[in-house]
Amino acid sequence: MKHSYLMTPGPSPLLPEVKAALGRDIIHHRTDEFREVLKEAHEGLKYLFQTKNPVLIFSSSGTGAMEAAVSNFLKKEDKALIVMGGKFGERWKEICESFGVETVPLNVEWGNAPISEDIEKLLDADSGIKAVYTTLCETSTATVYDIKSIAEVIRKKGLLCVVDAVSGLGQDVLKTDEWGVDVVVSGSQKGLMLPPGLAFLSFSKKAEKFLEESDLPKYYFDLKKASKSWEKNDTPFTPSVSLIFALRESLRVIREEGLETRWKDFGKMGRALRSALTSLGFEILSKSPSSSVTAALVKEIDTASIVRKMRKEYGISIAGGQGHLKGKIVRIAHMGYINPSDIVMCLSVLEKVLADSGVSIEKGVSLKAFQEVYYA
Ligand SMILES: *Cc1c(COP(=O)(O)O)cnc(C)c1O
Repeated sequence: MKHSYLMTPGPSPLLPEVKAALGRDIIHHRTDEFREVLKEAHEGLKYLFQTKNPVLIFSSSGTGAMEAAVSNFLKKEDKALIVMGGKFGERWKEICESFGVETVPLNVEWGNAPISEDIEKLLDADSGIKAVYTTLCETSTATVYDIKSIAEVIRKKGLLCVVDAVSGLGQDVLKTDEWGVDVVVSGSQKGLMLPPGLAFLSFSKKAEKFLEESDLPKYYFDLKKASKSWEKNDTPFTPSVSLIFALRESLRVIREEGLETRWKDFGKMGRALRSALTSLGFEILSKSPSSSVTAALVKEIDTASIVRKMRKEYGISIAGGQGHLKGKIVRIAHMGYINPSDIVMCLSVLEKVLADSGVSIEKGVSLKAFQEVYYA
């Protein structure tokens, strides 16, 4: 029997406390007992999101909260600026367009981070833009965006700043209130060490004004309805009771360890992994590498075969590329419940698979490079 490991940028491994909570008997959700669980989860989410504002919970994958962040804050024929530097920027554009929102793209080369001055120029040139939709960690390129300076530019103009932090939250630094980010969305299966199935959305006081004026269609993801229930530690529809038991545990662990500690540790894991992959002759894709996931270009072989061999023969799941990067990159996640020792193990298998594929490498070179940075 082979142990299997998830090193993909979602889903990611489950925390032991989460697994235990998932096995609990279900309880009815309209009870004081469940409201207490929700209350603790709501408090924990505020800490994770670094906000004093509400963080709502939905039963959906992360994209559900992305959709809510469009349908609840914009009006028909509104215009939105979309930062397009990868697959998830494209998703913002697709969602906006499906609601009839006009989009103004800021095209960023995949692997680069947007420059806030470029956003400012586009906003200066078009006074019709109401909101900017961007990403904390663009998972498809393993790139972290400078949300602090982006939010600053948007705030000066009184526009809405919306950030997809589905994969970055917990590893890449995000200070929602301090940086003036209006709407943040996330999901359960990346940094939160939970199964897929929950989505989260926080919104600022300023966003409430946009919420009041929005006339786009919505029903399940109606934030007005959801916030009324949230105030009573309740949900408008049946919540994912088991996942919320588990969420409470995950948030407890994150809080005990502390975000500052986690930010530092995942940052170091990222640096060490980049050094390890470079030692194998790979080229790091991102010019602004994320602390949640690392992507590297591999010249010699189709990376789809590396990914397949690692999964089939060694039980280790890493990810390949999306879009035009398919077959060209490997992506290894360091998010949620991933430890440095998991990465060392992953690298040793990666070396073996490379050697089996005829790539000549010095045995152990990447393990040494990883340790020299991580344990420096
Ligand atoms: C995973 C991910 C999402 C959401 O995907 P779902 O499959 O809907 O959970 C959104 N944005 C980013 C940046 C992601 O990494």
